[in-house]
Amino acid sequence: MISVVIPALNEEKFLPECLESLKNQDYQGDYEIIVVDNGSVDNTSKVASKCGAKVFSCSKRGVAYARQTGAYKASGDIIVQADADTTYPRNWLKRIANHFSSHPESVALAGAYVYKDPLRWSKFEYFMRHLTNIAGRLFLGKAVLVSGANFAFRREAFLKVNGYEANSLFPDQWGISRRLSRVGSISYDKTLLVTTSARRIQKPLCFILIGMVLNSARMSSHFIKHVANLFKRFAMKLPLLRTPARLATSVSLAIIVTVLSYGYIFPGSQVFGKVYSISKTSDKVVALTFDDGPNEPYTSQVLDILNSYGVKATFFTIGKNVELYPETARRIIAEGNVLGNHTYSHNANHALISGGSKDIQLAQEVIFKVTGVTPHLYRPPHGKKSPWELQFLKQERLVEVTWSVSANDQHILAYLGRPSPETFAKEIISKMKPGKIVLLHDGYGLTHGDIKSDKSLTVEALPMIIEELQHQGYKFVTIPELLGIPAYN
Ligand SMILES: [Zn+2]
Repeated sequence: MISVVIPALNEEKFLPECLESLKNQDYQGDYEIIVVDNGSVDNTSKVASKCGAKVFSCSKRGVAYARQTGAYKASGDIIVQADADTTYPRNWLKRIANHFSSHPESVALAGAYVYKDPLRWSKFEYFMRHLTNIAGRLFLGKAVLVSGANFAFRREAFLKVNGYEANSLFPDQWGISRRLSRVGSISYDKTLLVTTSARRIQKPLCFILIGMVLNSARMSSHFIKHVANLFKRFAMKLPLLRTPARLATSVSLAIIVTVLSYGYIFPGSQVFGKVYSISKTSDKVVALTFDDGPNEPYTSQVLDILNSYGVKATFFTIGKNVELYPETARRIIAEGNVLGNHTYSHNANHALISGGSKDIQLAQEVIFKVTGVTPHLYRPPHGKKSPWELQFLKQERLVEVTWSVSANDQHILAYLGRPSPETFAKEIISKMKPGKIVLLHDGYGLTHGDIKSDKSLTVEALPMIIEELQHQGYKFVTIPELLGIPAYN
């Protein structure tokens, strides 16, 4: 049995949607939903019981006390932390249950979250969280940034470590994962995604940035402590590691990591060299771009739609997919669109790995063999950049083109479920300004014929995007037209 525990303080507004998503799980086993009212003055308790949750109250204020109350009332072998302002995908509990049955050594599972209404830099935050957790797994053996809204553990382990410790740092995140890691391993799955409200980050940017640097510093400090322990074992005493020096080292390390990560991940960042993500023009022109194709039947459907509106676009194709659909690649060019290089094998860490340059070169060769043109435009997988990659592009007479508008159509279907094409189109349209480059996908990496590579949502939304923007007076151009650069070498 699984017990889902939700602490709630004046959550009557958010609770119904949260509980609805928990009631609609496709998990076949038994599960209970427990809401712990943490002293609400609104109708939290009533709303929760009406939705079928078991309600307990905890008068002592604080999320740790509420979670503790819920966890001790729970009868499940697996206890899952959830939050009232979060909604959960249908397969959430099933995936959690599968994890614990197939990983007997794991005592806890941490997932990730995305915001319902993401801010402009939210992607950067997701990436930093992910990076920190990868580093945490590597150096400390566990995910460091655990979300209170998406964390599950075995009851047995929880009892062994005496539950939550109210005085610890972030008791239901950092605190609980640290305690549980003493009795087993903490797994981290970045694809176990939930959607949470953005209310806790809707504060001035400077506070958020300070928070980020402090969190990175905390992380760096742990890393340094860990290295120091290794040294100590060899009986070496490093004066460097006394507290003030350690603080200074941690903060500088955190700033460096933040700047490098920004350069690596942000599509428009130019930390490592020239990257085109927008054109500085006041003319009402925009460029549509499609990544990861050719991928049939979607690429052909996109081409049909573009033709019917007399619109030309730019396709960043993957070399392997060009080999798979050579006819479609030739059709892209024959119909006046531009074809660019999106690597041969679409490795996610392309800009960092040693074979990265070879992969770009191979794509150039394949594209030339199939279509007779050598692209001048290159788009890195996931928009990730490195200094040596930009150096290599210069050498090969390629330019790096990223984007300034995206609605995440590559992940929507894969992890988050499908919005309506209208919602999707609206999101793109609302972000439009003259000179912007729009990122869309007609494929998903090297996959074909599965749910991730199903681009029907993009295909259905495309006519709406084109019609509305044409109505607003926008003209669609290709990337070379937008930037005044050649399409091919
Ligand atoms: Zn891609």
